[in-house]
Amino acid sequence: MTRSTKNLTQHIVNLRKSLKVFAKIMDLILILTVAAVLLVGTTACTRFIKDKKDTGLEGHNTSAKPAEISENEPGETGDEKDGSLENAPDSEKKPVPETEKVEEPNTQEPGNEEELNNPENKPGDAGSGIADSGQTPVSTPKPSPTPKPSATPKPTPTPAPEPILPSGIVNPYVKYTYEQMMEESRKLQEKYPDILSTESIGSSVEGKDILLIKLGLGEKKILLCGAHHAREYITSSYLMKMTEEYARYYTENKKFGNYNVKNLLDNVTLYIVPMVNPDGVNLVNKGLSAVANKEDVEAMALVRPTYREWKANINGVDLNRQYPAHWEEKYDNVGKPASENYKGTAAATEPEVQAMMALSEENDFILAASFHTKGNAIYWADRGTVNEIPRVEAMTKRLASLTKYQRMPISEKPSIYGAGYENWFRLKFKRPAFCIELTPYNDTDVPHDDSKFDKLVWNNARYIGLFLADEAMKR
Ligand SMILES: [Zn+2]
Repeated sequence: MTRSTKNLTQHIVNLRKSLKVFAKIMDLILILTVAAVLLVGTTACTRFIKDKKDTGLEGHNTSAKPAEISENEPGETGDEKDGSLENAPDSEKKPVPETEKVEEPNTQEPGNEEELNNPENKPGDAGSGIADSGQTPVSTPKPSPTPKPSATPKPTPTPAPEPILPSGIVNPYVKYTYEQMMEESRKLQEKYPDILSTESIGSSVEGKDILLIKLGLGEKKILLCGAHHAREYITSSYLMKMTEEYARYYTENKKFGNYNVKNLLDNVTLYIVPMVNPDGVNLVNKGLSAVANKEDVEAMALVRPTYREWKANINGVDLNRQYPAHWEEKYDNVGKPASENYKGTAAATEPEVQAMMALSEENDFILAASFHTKGNAIYWADRGTVNEIPRVEAMTKRLASLTKYQRMPISEKPSIYGAGYENWFRLKFKRPAFCIELTPYNDTDVPHDDSKFDKLVWNNARYIGLFLADEAMKR
């Protein structure tokens, strides 16, 4: 070996050594970088979840200024789930603003018609957030493939979803308002004057008409109503869609499913009040600017973070805790005007409730159904009246079979079930009255994504009005 060759070999050996050291240093830097990135990410996610929880649980003081309309649609995860209520236990773990602790009702009590569906009571409320946050344990990461921590992801503009076109006059795929309902009801009356008429049964707090649609020519009557609760306005679009479809099938003399629409509507008239609480619905869907007395509403307790989650009427009274049926016993953990749960200073103080009572007393309804969300469930009986209303259990089983909704247990305690429309109707008339929770559970009190109306509501619920008319014919 020549001297120069020897030098070259030595040089190569040195170079290799240097490279090995360099590679080890690079590996170390990579490991440290990845570890740092993961740590920062995890901390940020944890903080986000914590913030979210804090907002949900403590943001109730009246001075809070919530966003008028949150553009955040609820996570659709819940919509995929079966609306099973098995694990819905305590009805009043709900956070409540600024009030002393109220003795909670029996946690095992079934049949609290609204509260069982409180998504906050579902296990794993914040669970999805954690699952999505990528909170994997920080183990030694593999350096390849090399992450690029410095690369800032470019925001990809999400194209606006194509609006779903309604098949007729009624458009249920949007945030439904009082104005839209009035306009559509006018058009429906124009198109189907032989079978359909409209009138007002009274005025809301802010003077909006409480619309009644009479559909059918029969002497027998049944009552269907929606949106006692503002944020549940999808029950209004549902009843409007139902009105149009039944009128169309009647006019075309076609069967809808197994139902002979013409025969049913010639024998039974559907009295439909699509929106009991128009002021509340407009607050939910148009924001504070749609309210006449903004200051009054701003001064009320906000139980949820935004006005999208408003439930009461515009006086801050929960209309389904207002009816004179065990009203005195009904628990009230708010005690003052609020976005939900306040039962008022006395039964039937609110004009919307008075209008519904007058309508129900003036007509000989064979049965009634009041629509709410969420839960895909049927509340059909309370202990106080169940033995006085014959054949209602068998009817409920048929309804559950038709809709695939869950038939709930008999509501046991007046302090929990009292003061709802259906409870009052049963007590007053000793006839069937259902509280039907359309739409599946999800983990939020924000209304659903209305563009999914068909899947959320219509596919399961489209025959309910005809089913009830058919049942009324047998009574
Ligand atoms: Zn409700």
